[in-house]
Amino acid sequence: MLLLARRLRPITNARLLEDDGSTGVTDTMTETFKALVARETDGEVACEFEDLTADDLPGDGDAVISVAYSTLNYKDGLAIKGNQGKVMRSLPMVPGIDLAGVVEDPGNSGLEPGDEIVVTGWGLSETAWGGYSQKTKLNSDWLLPLPEGISLKQSMAIGTAGFTAMLSVMALEHMGLKPSQGEVLVTGAAGGVGSVAVAILANLGYDVAASTGRAEQHDYLESLGAGSIVERAELEEDGGPMRKARWAGGVDTVGSRILVNTMAQIKPNGSIAVCGLAAGPDLPATVIPIILRGVSLLGINSVHISNEKRKVAWDRLAKELPMDLLDSMTEVVPFVNLPGLAGEILKGRVRGRTVVDVNA
Ligand code: NDP
Repeated sequence: MLLLARRLRPITNARLLEDDGSTGVTDTMTETFKALVARETDGEVACEFEDLTADDLPGDGDAVISVAYSTLNYKDGLAIKGNQGKVMRSLPMVPGIDLAGVVEDPGNSGLEPGDEIVVTGWGLSETAWGGYSQKTKLNSDWLLPLPEGISLKQSMAIGTAGFTAMLSVMALEHMGLKPSQGEVLVTGAAGGVGSVAVAILANLGYDVAASTGRAEQHDYLESLGAGSIVERAELEEDGGPMRKARWAGGVDTVGSRILVNTMAQIKPNGSIAVCGLAAGPDLPATVIPIILRGVSLLGINSVHISNEKRKVAWDRLAKELPMDLLDSMTEVVPFVNLPGLAGEILKGRVRGRTVVDVNA
């Protein structure tokens, strides 16, 4: 800890949230910084803003990062709202599955102080302290230099959700999907993963059908490139294991009955990138479409991915996700608003992507 404290540079000019929600200036003498910390009391997990010092950061990790932005994903909502699904495996914990910022101490990464980096997954908010902190200490193997052509803020507008959307597209392509094969269905389309998936697929020339339960988001989805809208209710009915084959492929962020109905409508030998469970983790399905139509379910896990694959996905995101669309689907919120928004994302009321400015 003494070594760490000596190597840290003062976080001058970093603005902090005061208890009343206003912004203040870091006291460079004590070098405190703000973090949202989850602690367990009498079996209940609650998150509160706390002032920490470098000595409070957990010991593992050889790189120190001055965090600029984090994000709000569905999984973050679960963590902040009482650690539902036991997202955080140990406590106390700083949640936040994504972060982007500036290297203070590069550890063994080979990077230089001042370099800009992005980190998603790798167990942030599960087993390692995450992005809801103005400063953090991480395993330097996890630091990905910010891809060329995108800003720190845009990297968090992408975040785990956008990264997952790209992994989903890559998985479908790996199975041979091509725009000429027909419409691709994206479920939970107005959410974070869904919005980015719609924008990427449309930009790659796919005819995208966007499924949403929010009628007020139809124009938004069309602005991202959706060619048609599928009412969520249509996919919630029990329609049997095989229905009229309609989709060349799918990106499913929702799971449960909606995934089952998507399977029932996939064209022969088509695939679905299965990445989410916003409607539930159950799969009330039969193997009929898998066997009789050769439908494949492609599991997508964005957490534990090699750096080589991460780089490929991020480089593609920088090139194939139109940045004007990314900006149009993104809201930047101050740190203090985060706990309130966590409840909203669990209710399916957040549209697109939410970037958290941890210094505002
Ligand atoms: P969001 O909340 O932003 O989006 C989820 C969307 O799903 C909502 O916007 C809504 O879309 C739809 N939805 C919500 N509740 C229901 C419901 N009860 N029934 C049907 N549809 C519903 O979340 P994210 O985009 O951040 O994440 C989506 C899912 O993907 C989550 O389950 C998340 O845990 C998972 N995920 C998985 C990853 C992986 O590595 N596999 C990585 C990232 C996320 P609409 O209003 O358009 O209907």
